[in-house]
Amino acid sequence: MMSNRKILNFIDGEYTEGTSGKSFEVINPVDGSISAVVTEASAADVDRAVTAARAALEGEWGQMAVKTRLDLLDAVADGIMAHQQDFIDAEISDTGKPYGQVAHMEIPRAADQFRVFLKIVAAGGKNEIIDTLLPDGGVAHNREFRKPKGVIAAVCPWNLPLVMATWKAAPALAWGNTMVLKPSEETPSTAALLGMVMNEAGIPKGVFNVVHGFGENSAGGFLVAHPGVDAINFTGETRTGEAIMKSSAVGLRDVSLELGGKNPCIVFADCNFAAAIEGIAKSCFFNCGQICLGTERLYVEQSIFDKFVVALKNAAESQTIGPAVGPTHQKKILSYYRLAEQEGATVVTGGGIPKVNEALVGGAWVQPTIWTGLPEKARLLKEEVFGPCCHIQPFVREEDAIRMANDSLYGLAACVWSGDEGKARRVAEALNVGVCWINGWMVRDLRTAFGGVGMSGIGREGGIYSMEFHTELKNICTIMSPATV
Ligand code: NAD
Repeated sequence: MMSNRKILNFIDGEYTEGTSGKSFEVINPVDGSISAVVTEASAADVDRAVTAARAALEGEWGQMAVKTRLDLLDAVADGIMAHQQDFIDAEISDTGKPYGQVAHMEIPRAADQFRVFLKIVAAGGKNEIIDTLLPDGGVAHNREFRKPKGVIAAVCPWNLPLVMATWKAAPALAWGNTMVLKPSEETPSTAALLGMVMNEAGIPKGVFNVVHGFGENSAGGFLVAHPGVDAINFTGETRTGEAIMKSSAVGLRDVSLELGGKNPCIVFADCNFAAAIEGIAKSCFFNCGQICLGTERLYVEQSIFDKFVVALKNAAESQTIGPAVGPTHQKKILSYYRLAEQEGATVVTGGGIPKVNEALVGGAWVQPTIWTGLPEKARLLKEEVFGPCCHIQPFVREEDAIRMANDSLYGLAACVWSGDEGKARRVAEALNVGVCWINGWMVRDLRTAFGGVGMSGIGREGGIYSMEFHTELKNICTIMSPATV
């Protein structure tokens, strides 16, 4: 089925075809039909977007009272919810996600992100003043002062399209920056709709821009290489993060990288077994496993290993999950399913494409999959699959579980399941990751730090940590003469 939905770039407050004359298709992963046609931004279009963002920064937006700015962002949050059905339809069409997940979690969360960050900005920074005693008896007052960083380039992945776009836009705009957003070529629809919401809320033209296209030699590459960009906020694959970091080195632009993971989960015999199975089934299979925080490596205490494998198999087989994001990613997941077998894994469940009804055979479906029996050095246990799958390894000693969990170049997230609070805390502290959940998964307070170590990224986002990236800290030093002290 050919779609007549057309998605345009959003530059300087207007939707535009741009100048490239090129377009590309978005595939609906449920059935393989074309869900939209997108205009690809040229280098000139990206330049116009960056120039518009700079002008807005130097114009009305930059001069605006902080209170007025935050009120406008509150209206953006309201606008997302007022148009929630449009956002839901667009997100489902691009990603094939289940309705409830998009309607009840992702779209409200996108609106919430604006509210959370505007409240943090309204609460103010710590504005420390340090007094320096001067030889003449006077004093110098050193005051912290923060300015917006400038024009932010945000480059986003496809797994949580609107959540990611607003996770970048909300702090950038709340701290007074302007921005150009490049959504994933696989899922451009909701970012495009955000332009309409910005206009309706009264955000000045040029503050928020969206350019569409691919990475290298396309909109993404043009954007991160643009000298008018002051900082780059990227979420995506580690390899892309490395390329973007190279771009950011030219002109010494700041960079925040939220990258891939190969997240471990350690399960002790003294855990609440039923709760662990329920939580781990979510951390492995939610969003078709396409979540950077998802679990792909399980380490389960030997004494409950067999019982655990059977219980997680049953949970996997009763999951209702959506498709992978598209045919390319489906192929990648299936190639890892083949690799697992080549490396000698025992397939506990899944390992292929599920049976679907005839109307859906063109879709990007994959089975929830569990393996056991691989040695720790297997490639499957080192590389991120980003699909609904996990490998389960037994362990006897706590230190062996920690060692295996830490034997990864990645370090994004981990989980520990145990009824012994002290042990769980000790293990959580020993794991080399940016976030570790004890007896749960994905509880996210947006005020807390978020990010990874090693190949999982550089920098922290969330709460006040987003302020560090989105502002430039200046010291204003006022020298007071002895007479005025
Ligand atoms: P990707 O790196 O392929 O693409 C991400 C974005 O970068 C896309 O918009 C793409 O067009 C753009 N891009 C690609 N090459 C570029 C280049 N050379 N210059 C500029 N832009 C370029 O990632 P993906 O496949 O969209 O997303 C999946 C990955 O994202 C997984 O590895 C996942 O773990 C990671 N992820 C991480 C987090 C986190 O917070 N750490 C969150 C979500 C997803």
